[in-house]
Amino acid sequence: MKIELNEFFSTIGKEERISVNTDLELFESKLGSFQITEKAPFELHLLNQEGKTLLVDGETDVTVNTVCDRCLTDVPTSIHITIDEALDLETMGVTEDEEDGPAWLEGSELDLDKMVYDEILVNWPTKVLCRENCKGICSVCGKNLNLGTCSCDRSVPDPRMAAIQDIFNQFKEV
Ligand SMILES: [Zn+2]
Ligand SMILES: [Zn+2]
Repeated sequence: MKIELNEFFSTIGKEERISVNTDLELFESKLGSFQITEKAPFELHLLNQEGKTLLVDGETDVTVNTVCDRCLTDVPTSIHITIDEALDLETMGVTEDEEDGPAWLEGSELDLDKMVYDEILVNWPTKVLCRENCKGICSVCGKNLNLGTCSCDRSVPDPRMAAIQDIFNQFKEV
């Protein structure tokens, strides 16, 4: 959703606390597509400070269905989002040049979905495991080894899978 900020730009001292909801349902990045399963209301605080700056701050929580790095099962991951931005009203109002402004600002509109998207990207977990001791998947048959063992001889891996197994071994050493 988008929030019109025009009044906040032009009215000195204008302040409001609003509770809004993002329309974002899916987080799509080069890592893949991930469902956003839970969204808390985004509590935003807007304040025009003496006509000089517009404070935009607030926070929310979203839950994104990420996947385990080892076995690829879904792992709901909670991501906390905090916004604390001070927009310079002089440079924004006078020039049309918004190159230095935040990406979620489009003219006088705050693009809430873009804001949430960018914050998920910044706060994306570097490592996701379904459990500390996840056994991963068999490099030969692809079976999820948390659910049981298979009869594959993994000491002689399929060369096509060797590279993948190297990656799994790296994880085990961490
Ligand atoms: Zn796992
Ligand atoms: Zn196997």
